[in-house]
Amino acid sequence: MLFLGKKSDQGFDNLQGSALNNPLVWDGDRYQPSNRVSEMLTESSPGKRTCSSLQCTSTWIAPWRNRKRPIFEDQWGCSGRCVLNFVRAAVRRESADHTAETVAPHRHRVPLGLLMLSQEWITHSQLQYALDLQRTTGGRIGEILISECGIASEYITRALSLQWSCPVLSSRGFSAREMALVAPRTFVDKLGLVPVRVAGSKLLYLGFEDRLDASAALALELMSGLKVESGLMQAEEFRSIRTLLTENEGVELKEESWEETDAMAGRITAILEQKQPIASKLVRVQGNYWLRLWLEPAARGKFAMLPSSGEDMLDYLFTIER
Ligand SMILES: [Zn+2]
Repeated sequence: MLFLGKKSDQGFDNLQGSALNNPLVWDGDRYQPSNRVSEMLTESSPGKRTCSSLQCTSTWIAPWRNRKRPIFEDQWGCSGRCVLNFVRAAVRRESADHTAETVAPHRHRVPLGLLMLSQEWITHSQLQYALDLQRTTGGRIGEILISECGIASEYITRALSLQWSCPVLSSRGFSAREMALVAPRTFVDKLGLVPVRVAGSKLLYLGFEDRLDASAALALELMSGLKVESGLMQAEEFRSIRTLLTENEGVELKEESWEETDAMAGRITAILEQKQPIASKLVRVQGNYWLRLWLEPAARGKFAMLPSSGEDMLDYLFTIER
């Protein structure tokens, strides 16, 4: 029986580290680790709430305006105009490509076949045979090694994890009901990722089939308030988790398409004013803008900002047509 990876994810489950307690927050310039745990759902006393809009010139707050809602990224506005101002700032922040500075690009140093050869998981002749076949028929070297050379898929996953310097994740501890709430189902389909489990109440394991997506991981980190650890999964385990996730009810998702970001900012403001969430957040994922609303305090689950159920939660996914 093959032992999967030195960098196994075991042992992380009891983590109580301080570094993991620091979600990323926007400091006006870039995403930085914060020293505070998310306070997005902490209600401050009504009446003391002041407008968060930097452009606010109002000295008067309409007496009928709720002082507790809507909250967008810890901010409350004294009027729809003020809400629009900080929503626009958030849209500008997400439109800028911060992935490059926050997430270092990954480059493989050693090709998969050579790496497996150096680990003595395949022989010279097996590699030569697979490379010859790849030259004539195309395809991925890992798949050829499995189908034509009889190499166990565990070795391919393990070699990929060495390339990506990431753990091999197992489906141990996976709960489809809980993990279906982490992100809209369309992320599972389109981005090829599966939330696997929360460990130590601060760490979210994110599984990928054959390549990591650092920007998707960052988006989930920002939205969940949990530290995300990405890892690779064996194809069969990945697919069975993906099937279970798609069978489960997640958060209700509404998808909309807008011509440009300023119109989208106006629409987001209208949604906030209408739905009156006690917390909400905007994150860009692969060109789409993901708005998540927590409509009532009970919507918050055990772990950071993860929902307890699909109830009193709402997701919007905006696409900008270009
Ligand atoms: Zn104001």
